[in-house]
Amino acid sequence: MANLKLSHIYKVYENGHKAVSDFSIDIADREFIVFVGPSGCGKSTTLRMIAGLESITAGDLFIGDTRVNDMEPKDRDIAMVFQSYALYPHMTVYENMAFGLRNRKMPEEEIKERVLKAAKMLDIEDYLERKPKEMSGGQRQRVALGRALVRDPKVFLLDEPLSNLDAKLRAAMRTEITALHKSLNTTFIYVTHDQVEAMTMGTRIVVMKLGYVQQIDTPMNLYNEPYNKFVAGFIGTPQMNFFDVTLKREHENVVVRFDNGDTITVPYESVSKIHPSYLDGSRKVTFGIRPEHMTVDRDERGLRFVVTNVERLGNETIIYGKLGDHLGEFTMKDEGNSIIAKVVDRDDIEVGDVVYAEPNPSKVHFFDAETEVTLMSKIPPFNTVEVKAAGNGMDLLGSTVAMPKVYADALKGEDSFELVIPPAAIVPGKDFKLPVARVEQVDDKHLAYLRYGEGYIFALVGEDVKAGDDYSFSLLNEKTDLKAGGKELLKAIPDEDTIDGTFYKTEVKEGGERVLHFFYRIGDYSLEAQAEDGYKIKINAIDGDSCYKKTYRYAVDRKSMHLSEGEGLAVEIVDILDYGNVRYAKAKAGDQEFLIEADKDTVLGPAKVAFRSEDVSVYSIESDMKIC
Ligand code: ADP
Repeated sequence: MANLKLSHIYKVYENGHKAVSDFSIDIADREFIVFVGPSGCGKSTTLRMIAGLESITAGDLFIGDTRVNDMEPKDRDIAMVFQSYALYPHMTVYENMAFGLRNRKMPEEEIKERVLKAAKMLDIEDYLERKPKEMSGGQRQRVALGRALVRDPKVFLLDEPLSNLDAKLRAAMRTEITALHKSLNTTFIYVTHDQVEAMTMGTRIVVMKLGYVQQIDTPMNLYNEPYNKFVAGFIGTPQMNFFDVTLKREHENVVVRFDNGDTITVPYESVSKIHPSYLDGSRKVTFGIRPEHMTVDRDERGLRFVVTNVERLGNETIIYGKLGDHLGEFTMKDEGNSIIAKVVDRDDIEVGDVVYAEPNPSKVHFFDAETEVTLMSKIPPFNTVEVKAAGNGMDLLGSTVAMPKVYADALKGEDSFELVIPPAAIVPGKDFKLPVARVEQVDDKHLAYLRYGEGYIFALVGEDVKAGDDYSFSLLNEKTDLKAGGKELLKAIPDEDTIDGTFYKTEVKEGGERVLHFFYRIGDYSLEAQAEDGYKIKINAIDGDSCYKKTYRYAVDRKSMHLSEGEGLAVEIVDILDYGNVRYAKAKAGDQEFLIEADKDTVLGPAKVAFRSEDVSVYSIESDMKIC
């Protein structure tokens, strides 16, 4: 039994191919995790890195509390099952299963006990004396599972174990492997390109594309709340339908207008997390609806389409069609106008019929047309509010509050502007008060819908806040963007700043032993790195020994950066930014600029800035990887 932690794992193959990028996940003991994605997306590479069959280019892999990056595969207490079974053809089933244990010099008595137990679990007791070639594909895969099982490993890794089996056997083995996982109470990590396998087996699924994790979630959350268009399209058969649309809010409804001029409406309440800037009818949006979330009928409600194919599967019918063009004609050539609906109890629809598909308004999806990210994130990324300058203050959210000096400077006399406020920048306080319409739990956070004007302001609140309350709050001025006339005048201050620098080592004799010390050098400031991090940079497979000649990007947690009386990076304080609630000093070191929290006594002029090496993350500039 074991938990696993993958932290910013990268794999760059020797030919320079980046197969896995920035893969992080915490896997709890006894989870059944599935890696899924199209061929070549990096699933097997990740699994092989966990097994120790492939080196890890950057990042940390923990099994239990032990960092195992450099641990031999045989010492990791992991068993792997491959698609190809990898059985020894000249050995019997018994010998195949016993082989690994014999190599470990386990007493024959115990080997026998383990093999028999595993054979019983897998229902292959009667085949122990057979050779693999005398068995079916399904039986051979059981032997391969058995060989893993006898080792009683902490973690089972399975790489497409069922893909050589026919559909029926695959379905049966899925159930068996799931049952095996339950009875063993062990952590399973399973790789497949088959989304049905992923959905039916995983307690959580990692969806990957081109080496990047797209979403990590439970099967139901992936299905109901896909993070982007890729996940939405990958999970579910037949695939989700996608259409180019625009959205326009009309009071309590939102009108979805298709390219051909057809429209459907959905209640505003079901899409209220979509940022209002998408609801003015001008922005291109991708609309997604699953085939099973539409009804198809002849009454003129919904999307008009002509039926091009009908598949009757008995329990359900899959209807394929084409939407009409701008003239309402069905020109078959048009791309991007196909529609698929999956319905029950409809045996009266035939090819050539003109019918209407009506989406279930509570099952609609919308994605940004360019980034393809959902517009209905569980926690909306930001709110936008209109602000008017009023004397020395500003009017927003129904209150007048002091205008931070930084805002006034950025506005240069402009008196109406917008603040872009992330939910986390709304904190308990006395400046504003809005009624709470609803509170929703999202993972371990509480998202409040604060009623404002025609829509909502989204805030993260404490668990004591309830619908019907009035919520009193303030804004973290430094965490908001300021825009006027479509232009960004001021950006929120991020939680960290990046500073470029180099890396070096010293060797000292300590008690007769040579000990290496590693340092980050930024300008004239040398900061001793955590020894472990220093070694990571040194042995980083990409940079090799040239690590001492390169420039690295150091990302420093802003909370750690402070003005120092003693050692530190020599800077020039060139400006003080007064946000009202906090002040920041703009520091310049050579041509690099960053912000540090300042107090009332901070003055312009030369100063020193220091920070702790624990609060520094190191990025390779060339390969764009987080090294530690
Ligand atoms: P998946 O398991 O998702 O099909 P893999 O992890 O096997 O994908 O491969 C990910 C990418 O890395 C692919 O583009 C593949 O061609 C490449 N790759 C795999 N192994 C090697 C290797 N030994 N050397 C170079 N590139 C490799």
